[in-house]
Amino acid sequence: MPGADFFRSVTTFISERTIYLLLAVLVLNMLQRRYQQHAREKRLATLYIAMLILAFMIGTVLIVYFALPDVLVVPLLAALLLIGYRFRARVFPFRLNCRLCGRRLSGKRILFFDSNTCEQCEQRQ
Ligand SMILES: [Zn+2]
Repeated sequence: MPGADFFRSVTTFISERTIYLLLAVLVLNMLQRRYQQHAREKRLATLYIAMLILAFMIGTVLIVYFALPDVLVVPLLAALLLIGYRFRARVFPFRLNCRLCGRRLSGKRILFFDSNTCEQCEQRQ
């Protein structure tokens, strides 16, 4: 059974590295700007995801700073996941397969096109 020091170092690690995850999501959000007219909802979604990650980051930093029990990371993460799940239609509108024909979508269409359809289905409409 690992000791309290181990869990403290895990919490510290998480609080220091979450910023990279946040930056990655923000870079994706900036890339989505190029597809403005197709990716409006998905661009908002990456913004919401970034806000949830930021809340998680602030929470873990506060836990480390005020030397609160490390176990608080669990309810913090659970609360944010519940919020994300409650608003899943807005927070996670990404689909891997075409909404109409079920074919696998390309990464570009998954990330940058709100329609969630493949090229062929979109042309047919
Ligand atoms: Zn299709």
